[in-house]
Amino acid sequence: MTDNFFDIATARFPADADAPFIELESGRRYSYRDLMEISGRYARLLVGLGVAKGDRVAVQVEKSAEAVFLYLACLRAGAAYLPLNTAYTKAEVGYFLGDAEPRVFVCTPGNAAALADTAAAAGVGTLLTLGTDGDGSLAERAAGLDAEFATVACGANDLAAILYTSGTTGRSKGAMMSHRNLSSNAATLHRIWGFRPDDVLLHALPIFHTHGLFVATNCVLMNGTGILFLPKFDADAVFRLLPRATVMMGVPTFYTRLLADPRLTPEAAAHMRLFISGSAPLLADTHREFRERTGHAILERYGMTETGMLTSNPLDGDRIPGTVGFPLPEVSVRVADEKTGEPVADGEIGVLEVKGPNVFSGYWRMPEKTAQEIRPGGWFITGDVGRIDGRGYVHIIGRAKDLVISGGFNVYPKEVETVIDAIDGVVESAVIGVPHPDFGEAVVAVVLRRPGAEALDEAAVIGACREQLANFKVPKAVAFLEELPRNAMGKVQKNLLREAYRGLFG
Ligand code: ATP
Ligand code: MG
Repeated sequence: MTDNFFDIATARFPADADAPFIELESGRRYSYRDLMEISGRYARLLVGLGVAKGDRVAVQVEKSAEAVFLYLACLRAGAAYLPLNTAYTKAEVGYFLGDAEPRVFVCTPGNAAALADTAAAAGVGTLLTLGTDGDGSLAERAAGLDAEFATVACGANDLAAILYTSGTTGRSKGAMMSHRNLSSNAATLHRIWGFRPDDVLLHALPIFHTHGLFVATNCVLMNGTGILFLPKFDADAVFRLLPRATVMMGVPTFYTRLLADPRLTPEAAAHMRLFISGSAPLLADTHREFRERTGHAILERYGMTETGMLTSNPLDGDRIPGTVGFPLPEVSVRVADEKTGEPVADGEIGVLEVKGPNVFSGYWRMPEKTAQEIRPGGWFITGDVGRIDGRGYVHIIGRAKDLVISGGFNVYPKEVETVIDAIDGVVESAVIGVPHPDFGEAVVAVVLRRPGAEALDEAAVIGACREQLANFKVPKAVAFLEELPRNAMGKVQKNLLREAYRGLFG
């Protein structure tokens, strides 16, 4: 056996090859035998197209079982799997292809004509298509090939994937992930979340992102059990499938949508053993309401594209709302002063730095950025501001880039958001810094009201803040929106808000 993550996962596959791996909403099932055979054929096709160890295979396809087999085929061929967000436009795809120079690019049949020139301009050797139901030139070309494929031996540090970050704070960066990064994270998550032989994962996340791919899918591969696969989150489908699932991994918006649905009852969630949330902060209210409605305490955890998962609330023990739990066993987390990089005193706020076998080896073709963010001793600077409390729970306060400096004073948006979110009639809020002639930046709150709470106005929000916050933290203006701008992972895009309100103070 080699250190190729696929080899490590294969050792955990069920003895019965007919055991289910992926089941679609349509009822169509793929077994572990299908996994081996289809990924084997795809890997053979890739190698036949000249894909050698370390070559990139870029992929922009809809979520499907075949897309998972393609990911596994890349691992088996020793290639670096490079998934692209399905929302990327032609121009964005062109940028990423030019950056990554993949040997093969796989897109949807519908996009092939439009992307052919883009791919050619980026020097892509072969353009293939993959449909959602196996109808694509990749599946067709692989159909006649021998399904037996000897997985290419890989070392622990060999490149397994390049995953682009979500682009919440700027242009997405390609994080180079090794086979060790994938294996260590998958093995740990599988263990700490107590995966069992009868577990079935309800999977409604995108698979171009670390959450749906390396956390959710890899965890199930390490367990050798089944996935109920939804193309995207859809409350009707989720309620249909919950009685057959045991674990769901989601982003906070999944939970707020479930809470908005009268079908969410203890009975609906009775078969489930674990609801997990990550990728963006889970509101304490969501945690509390979900517990009241279903009896389940959502387990919140924290991770990044560059590191995979970093911390998790405990499976057994207190899952504390507003915290992301304890560092994973093999992950070290420290809190450092943003400017000096020196560790802060216990319990103080600073930038989280992390170290461990899960930390990526660097940003693709960005050696300077890599050197800025990974210290010589291996500590990776997450860019997230947080603290570790007396019991060892990690609290995320926000991103260093979102810090507002108003009149020379630091304002952590989360502190203000927490006060505003607690006001009757507020669903949630986003606090940003907006250029201001006197203060440099002024605190501005963007607020989402509950239906029927339209009477809640700027003065009321500011009044509530005045009672609880120092003057420099009180918003200078409040805007009301119907919805906060979010990306595919449910993250609030504060850069768009800052852009929208930048002229507010002249
Ligand atoms: P970019 O790095 O391109 O700006 P991004 O940081 O949003 O985008 P991801 O790697 O997808 O890209 O997201 C990681 C970030 O998501 C973390 O650094 C953190 O800010 C946030 N995050 C993840 N989980 C949580 C959580 N449970 N609570 C709060 N924030 C979280
Ligand atoms: Mg980031």
